[in-house]
Amino acid sequence: MLAVIKNILYSLHKHREYSDLFKTSSTVLLSNIIIVKQRENSNDSNRRLPFQESTVPERYLGLNFTKTGLNSKYNTLIQEMKNNLIKWKSQAITMKAKMTILKTYVLSKLTYHQYMDNLNEEQIEEINNMTRWFLFSSVKNTYTEERKYKTMMKIDRAYADWKEGGIKLWDLELRHIAFKIWYMNRLFHNNYNNNNNTLQEWYMEQLSRKKPTLQPSTICADTGINELPDCIRNDNDEPLKLKEIYELMIKDRHPTPRRTEWQKLWAVRYNTAIPKVFININSISHQKGRNTLFRFFSRSLPGINHERDTRCKICGHLLRDPYSHLFTLCQDILDIEKTIISTVNKISFIKIHRWSMDTLDISKYNRTERIFPNLIGIIAHQLWKIICHKLFNTDESKPEPKFEQKVIETELLNLIETEKFITLKKIKHDEAILKNTNQDLHKYKFNKAWQTPAAPNPLPI
Ligand SMILES: [Zn+2]
Repeated sequence: MLAVIKNILYSLHKHREYSDLFKTSSTVLLSNIIIVKQRENSNDSNRRLPFQESTVPERYLGLNFTKTGLNSKYNTLIQEMKNNLIKWKSQAITMKAKMTILKTYVLSKLTYHQYMDNLNEEQIEEINNMTRWFLFSSVKNTYTEERKYKTMMKIDRAYADWKEGGIKLWDLELRHIAFKIWYMNRLFHNNYNNNNNTLQEWYMEQLSRKKPTLQPSTICADTGINELPDCIRNDNDEPLKLKEIYELMIKDRHPTPRRTEWQKLWAVRYNTAIPKVFININSISHQKGRNTLFRFFSRSLPGINHERDTRCKICGHLLRDPYSHLFTLCQDILDIEKTIISTVNKISFIKIHRWSMDTLDISKYNRTERIFPNLIGIIAHQLWKIICHKLFNTDESKPEPKFEQKVIETELLNLIETEKFITLKKIKHDEAILKNTNQDLHKYKFNKAWQTPAAPNPLPI
């Protein structure tokens, strides 16, 4: 079975054939009806059509058709998507929020049409360009169509999962091929369960002839196919899901996300465990903290990437790598190192002796421990606010953010309260719906994960 999946899924060339064929055969089916009507009409030129021949696209099941076939709506949709992204631009702060908006409110507009219609190369590039603008440019940056926007992440890394240091961006080309494969696969599935369906036999014939014909006729006669093939199934013996098809294809095209040169260097110099650090970053619940740490390790923080082998704009020292310098080695950070260390050691059971790349690399901690990684995220985010103010602020009336133990503590306490609320809700839900009264275990687990020296039992048992 695996060989079959490989055969079908792993040859993109074939995919394209399938999808093109599918598009043609579906639209031919519809235009066929129109042509038959026209033929009827041409036999008797004096006879008028019982209906007015349409000159504008007609809507059928949400898709537009003319007498020649499917009339693509993509250009209109892309315009709508652009307007939406412009509206959403200022609303999204973290990478995760941006990705959610992009997929839920913008790219989802394409979904229905992707079952039948194909995006062309220019359309894909147009969508990718506005995506890059939305994800990586600053909030103040207004969208200009002529401009080519840059990504701050190599595109193969961007397609990868969050746990691998990617942002799960969609490869639109693969995705719309995946839609067609899914559709064809579903068709085989129905076929298998219902051998007498004429329409499906007709589809099979289209597939085997490579060129669509108009007359449905008996299958197998001149095709050499003796029985209808079954669909491709997953491990649960169900027809492959769209998600599974897409994931197989993306893994095939980009097997493991490449590390950046600096990620490789960090691994040697600081023993940074990439990609394991991304797995732990992914479970940080403080949103801004998670975002800053993620962008730190994926090296996609705005505004500092190009600062290499130059003097630091804050302390004047030579720097090779803006990331490790600005966050751990800059004189301004060294000046507050003691405060950072005492803040961590006061709030967390895990103690640190230095503030360094080693401290930022949260990969070595057990993932049931929630305080420490969240705390490191909160601190990294506070440092980033300070760095940004020093590097980019032009508004003198804006107060300079400071590193204060109290600020960090408050952020963490608020986070614990939120988590507490979620856990109590879950306990209530379990009791009401599942009649499960194991609340002590929930509370015990919560306390173990979220305990601090000041509050060893944040949830009283
Ligand atoms: Zn510096």
